[in-house]
Amino acid sequence: MGKKKSIKEQVGFLIELQVVDGEIFVLTAEKNEAPSKISTIEKELETKKIGIQQAEESTKALQVKLKDREVSLQQKEGEIKKLEGQLYQIKTNKEYATMLTEIQGIKADNSLVEEEILKLMDAIESAKKKIAEEKELFKKGEASAQKEKVVVSARLREIDARLAELSSKRNEIVPNIGKQVLARYERVLKNRDGLAITQVKDGACSGCHMNLPPQVVSAAKIREEIIACGSCNRILYVDDDVEVN
Ligand SMILES: [Zn+2]
Repeated sequence: MGKKKSIKEQVGFLIELQVVDGEIFVLTAEKNEAPSKISTIEKELETKKIGIQQAEESTKALQVKLKDREVSLQQKEGEIKKLEGQLYQIKTNKEYATMLTEIQGIKADNSLVEEEILKLMDAIESAKKKIAEEKELFKKGEASAQKEKVVVSARLREIDARLAELSSKRNEIVPNIGKQVLARYERVLKNRDGLAITQVKDGACSGCHMNLPPQVVSAAKIREEIIACGSCNRILYVDDDVEVN
């Protein structure tokens, strides 16, 4: 470290440091979001997968039900044939009428079962179609998730490379700033979303937009001491090219 820098000089270095730290702040936030971005994509895919599995299971249940109805329809039809065969052996009209009624009853039941079978077949067919569509969508989703992951990890490498550059830039600037001034700057940086030193614009702090007393603005312009915004605590400076009114 060279000879002690004046506050005016240190403010100049703080302004340079802020440019670096501002970018570090933004990049770090982006970097921290990356894992949740990927896990959101993965969760969406997982949800889709579970949905498909559930649809397949309920289709299977429909198929079991269909099989059961088909078997019982066959049994009832067998019963009808048997009863119809017996009709010819019946001796009294009354017995004949009773059996006929019984046969008609079974036939009526059967036509209900037949209707149910048709409905089940329809339901199974459309469920299968839907599952095939969902599987297609899932495949596409998986492919695009894979692409997205590649994009995100490429971006992460880019960010890491840039952060390394910024870190060495930072290391060049920091020795020019006094320990106390730096500590103060870093405290504000941490508490104020990565913005520790900010310009005075139109008599207001451009960090929080509160109007500043004229003496504060003048003091910030002179740069003989560190001047902070009374409202947000950020260090203030006035651009050298700007006249103070
Ligand atoms: Zn402020």
